[in-house]
Amino acid sequence: MRSLLLSLLVFISTNIFAQSDEEVLRDFYTHALEEQQSYRWLGELCAIGPRLAGSEGATEAVKWAMKTMESMNFDTVYLQPVEVPHWVRGEEEARFGRFPLSVTALGGSISTPEGGITAQVVEVSDFSMLDSLGELGLLEGKIVFYNYPMKQHYIKTFHAYSDAVKYRWMGAAKASEYGAVASLIRSLSTRIDDFPHTGTMTYRDVKTKIPGGALSTMAAEWLSVQLKRQPDKKMLLRLESEDKGRTTSYNVIADLYGSTYPEQIMVLGGHLDSWDLAEGAHDDGAGCVHSMGAAQLIMDSDVALKRTLRVVLYMNEEFGLDGARTYAQMTHDQRHVLAIESDAGGYIPRGFSFDTDSITLEKIRRFQPLFLPYGLFEFTNQGSGADVGQIQDANAILGGLRPESQRYFDVHHAATDVYAAVNARELEIGTASIAAIVYLMDFYDTFKPQD
Ligand SMILES: [Zn+2]
Repeated sequence: MRSLLLSLLVFISTNIFAQSDEEVLRDFYTHALEEQQSYRWLGELCAIGPRLAGSEGATEAVKWAMKTMESMNFDTVYLQPVEVPHWVRGEEEARFGRFPLSVTALGGSISTPEGGITAQVVEVSDFSMLDSLGELGLLEGKIVFYNYPMKQHYIKTFHAYSDAVKYRWMGAAKASEYGAVASLIRSLSTRIDDFPHTGTMTYRDVKTKIPGGALSTMAAEWLSVQLKRQPDKKMLLRLESEDKGRTTSYNVIADLYGSTYPEQIMVLGGHLDSWDLAEGAHDDGAGCVHSMGAAQLIMDSDVALKRTLRVVLYMNEEFGLDGARTYAQMTHDQRHVLAIESDAGGYIPRGFSFDTDSITLEKIRRFQPLFLPYGLFEFTNQGSGADVGQIQDANAILGGLRPESQRYFDVHHAATDVYAAVNARELEIGTASIAAIVYLMDFYDTFKPQD
C-alpha cells in the first residue's frame, strides 16, 4: 500500500509538475559531466585508430558504432550502404639537399614516380604570383611551393581556414597548368610545429596530374629561408599512394521514435570517418560521441520528445561527402524539421550557428538566456555543416554546434588529433548543449511551419 502511494506520488510529480527548463538543462549538464559517457565512447572509438573511408579502421568504426547504439534504447539501429573511395597513403619523404622536411601527401594525390621527383622549388605567396611566374614559363619542371599561411587576424579560425583552403584544394591542379611537376602547400595550421596536415585536393579536369603534398608549418618557414639563400638547390620529393577505386561502407543510423509526431525527424550527426594520420579525435570522433551522448542524455531523462530523434554517423565526409549525399537521397521523402551537426571539434562550446530564416532564428534566440550559465552565447545564422548541408528539405532547420575554435587547426587533419588532445569536460558540455537545444526546440515547437 505504502509503495503504491509512493509510486502514485512519483507519477504525479513527474507528470503533472513538469520540471522547469532550467532544471531540465541543469540535469543534462550534471549528468554529462558526472557520467562522461561521450568521453568514454570517444576513447573506444579512438582506440580503433585512423578511420579513413574504405580502410579497415573505418570498417571497425562502423561495427563499433552499430554495436554501441544497439546497446542503447533506440527503437531501431541500421546501416545505410555508401560507396566510398579507397585511397591508401604510402611512404613519404622530402629532402632539401640533405635536410629532411616533414611532409605528407594530400588526400587523392597521385603517387610520385618510382624514386621520387628531384627538382628545383619555386615559392609563391598566392595564386596571382603563380600566374605571373607561370606565364613567364618559370614554373616549367619545378616543384611549386605555396607558402600561404592561415591568416592570424581572424577571431574564428574557420574563417582563416576558408580563406586558405583553396591552395590545398586547387594548388596542384593550377600549378600543373604551368608545367610544374609537383605542388606543396604550407600546412593549414595556425600553429608553428613540425606536423604536416593533410586534407582533400582536386584535379578538376587537368591534362596532367601532379602530386600534391603539405609541409609542416615549421618546414615551410625553414624552406622559405633556405630558398632565398640557395634558389637553385633541388628537392627530392617522394609521396607514394595508391588509388584502390571504390568500395562499400556505411552510414550508421539510429532512431528514437517521437511520441506525437514520429514522422517529423530531428537529426543529430557527426562523421565517423577520419583522416589517416591520426585517430580523428576532434575531427570528428567528438561529433559522433556528441550526437550519441546527447541522445543518451535524453533517453536517461524524463523528457519524452514529440518528434523522432535520429543519430546519423556519416561515412566519408572528408573525401567527398558520400555518406551525407547518400543519406539525403535515401531520405528525400522523409520530413526533416531539424538537423544539427557537430564537426568543429570537442572544445568548449560557444553556441550554435544555424542555416534558417531570420524569423525562425529569432525564435531560437529566445533560448539563449538558458544557455548563458554554461558559457554558450552565440546563436547566429552563419551556416551549419557540410554533412547536414546536403539535406534538401526546405522545412528543415540546419544547425551546427560552435565550439571555441582557437586550437582546432593545431590538430585538424594532423597526427596530433588524438584522444589525449580532447578535454573530457569541454566535450561533455558540448554533448549536454546539443541535448538541451533539441529538447527546447521540440518542446516549444520551434520549427518552420510545415506544409
Ligand atoms: Zn570533420
